[in-house]
Amino acid sequence: MAPFGTAPSTEETAPEAGQLTDGFHLVIDALKLNGITTIYGVPGIPITDLGRMAQAEGMRVISFRHEQNAGNAAAIAGYLTRRPGVCLTVSAPGFLNGLTALAHATTNCWPMILISGSSEREVVDLQQGDYEELDQLAVARPLCKAAYRVLHAEDIGIAVARAIRAALSGRPGGVYLDLPAKLLGQAIDAAEGAASLVEVVDPAPAQFPAPAAVQRALDILGKARKPLIILGKGAAYAQADDLVRGFVEKTGIPYIAMSMAKGLLPDTHPQYAGAARSLALKEADTVMLIGARLNWLLSHGKGKQWGAPGSKTFVQIDIDPKEMDSNLPVAGPLVGDIASCLSALLDAMGDGWARPPAEWTEAIRAKCEANVARMAPRLQNNNVPMDFHGALGALRTIIKERPEAILVNEGANTLDFARSIIDMYRPRKRLDVGTWGVMGVGMGTAIAAAIETGQPVLAVEGDSAFGFSGMEVETICRYRLPVCVVVFNNGGIYRGTDVNPSGGPDAATTVFVPGARYDRMMEAFGGVGVNATSPDELRRAVNEAMDSGRPTLINAVIDPAAGTESGRIGNLNPQSVVSRK
Ligand code: ADP
Ligand code: MG
Repeated sequence: MAPFGTAPSTEETAPEAGQLTDGFHLVIDALKLNGITTIYGVPGIPITDLGRMAQAEGMRVISFRHEQNAGNAAAIAGYLTRRPGVCLTVSAPGFLNGLTALAHATTNCWPMILISGSSEREVVDLQQGDYEELDQLAVARPLCKAAYRVLHAEDIGIAVARAIRAALSGRPGGVYLDLPAKLLGQAIDAAEGAASLVEVVDPAPAQFPAPAAVQRALDILGKARKPLIILGKGAAYAQADDLVRGFVEKTGIPYIAMSMAKGLLPDTHPQYAGAARSLALKEADTVMLIGARLNWLLSHGKGKQWGAPGSKTFVQIDIDPKEMDSNLPVAGPLVGDIASCLSALLDAMGDGWARPPAEWTEAIRAKCEANVARMAPRLQNNNVPMDFHGALGALRTIIKERPEAILVNEGANTLDFARSIIDMYRPRKRLDVGTWGVMGVGMGTAIAAAIETGQPVLAVEGDSAFGFSGMEVETICRYRLPVCVVVFNNGGIYRGTDVNPSGGPDAATTVFVPGARYDRMMEAFGGVGVNATSPDELRRAVNEAMDSGRPTLINAVIDPAAGTESGRIGNLNPQSVVSRK
């Protein structure tokens, strides 16, 4: 992929005098000039022709069945490529459908641009009831990092450039670009149009920490007796993999990885403390966060799992200065991009860095080994119906044998168990529900992962989570993508055994049709469907799918009684104080 500022010169000849261009073509040219070659979207008024023309101009245009899935695809494309993923939607309802993903991208700090067609400004602003009337710009603004509207064709170049820079610079995020229908058809002189396009130079500039901040952080780390590193998905996004590895190994500090940072270093790395997470969090005296936030996923750095209050000193690398002291005081803030911060740290460390006391690192190693050994037999069970451990034990081996494959994962129990059971070996191979823990990202994520990387994708989905985006199996078949979806079918949300407490005829709120056959959905569109009832059957079917690259959906029959309420975050459910008969 060409870096920004070095776009290959297009073969097209310069426009002749008197030749015209229009809004449609200027949008396409502006995106292409900036190396954006894929659009995820759903066609319709007023952007149907924009999609057609983009395809005609050599862009990859992937049409989905619902904008939310196209948006989720664009969001994860931004994470994987460090280039804004683009989602294209129709006005009002399509725009609103894309908005959840735009907010999701912003929350996760991923670069994305939602481009939506909109109705006539004059009519919308006078609220005269236009087709799909909505003040989209105003609605989008609080949900993204920046929002722009373009009214004149000659401004398209600058608007696209601003959108790209806003999405990528500093802490990345989502950007909304509003394109009224009238703009797309506006004609201007072609030479003038070409001259109005802007190629963005260095949209994510390196941001170095001051030498004093580097020294302060090293002084804190050097004094630590029980240091711990936490790698977050910001570190994975940064694509500074060698520096992360170099720093972790040079310090000798044990580390844990947040969900999507798994595999940044292989989960089998001798310093990986994932299996001793509780011990490490509780006992550490110094915690260094690298592209990870002290948000709810780390219980804000508070509570029993963090040991005595005030017992930890924090060092944090983040590109956003406001992230420091967000939940607890940070004694060693390093504000800058991961690559610049880590290279500054490595330079300042010199050669004689003292590794942490062996007592600490050995205690963590011993705990890891004991926990891994304790878990091993459960992962080898061949129970029918399957439990989560038996089924995930099979998938764990598959990822070990195929480390290049991308693992997409969502659900409640399916997510929580898979995260701890399936080891990752390479960076950015685990794609999941992100900061919000949002259900429904599965198929959009799987599709973008296949398109952007060309690697095989294994999507491990709870049956409930799959339902949010399941219709996109048609999209997977249509584009013949190497995606194998495994639906962990326990017949319900959390599990399939709840009964209606009123005794009435309706199903309980959390259960689905028992014995559902999700595999047949894939067959309906020409893909491969398999019903797997044992870990052995599951293993065989997944291997076959990964070898053939054919779109496959495996209905993995899980014991309806397996699974706990809300997986591992049941504590977030409020408790009622009322008990009624
Ligand atoms: P996790 O959920 O894995 O803990 P988060 O998404 O909560 O990760 O945190 C990622 C952090 O990484 C965010 O605070 C974001 O500002 C930061 N970040 C993203 N990209 C970079 C970068 N290139 N350099 C430094 N920090 C970054
Ligand atoms: Mg379920």
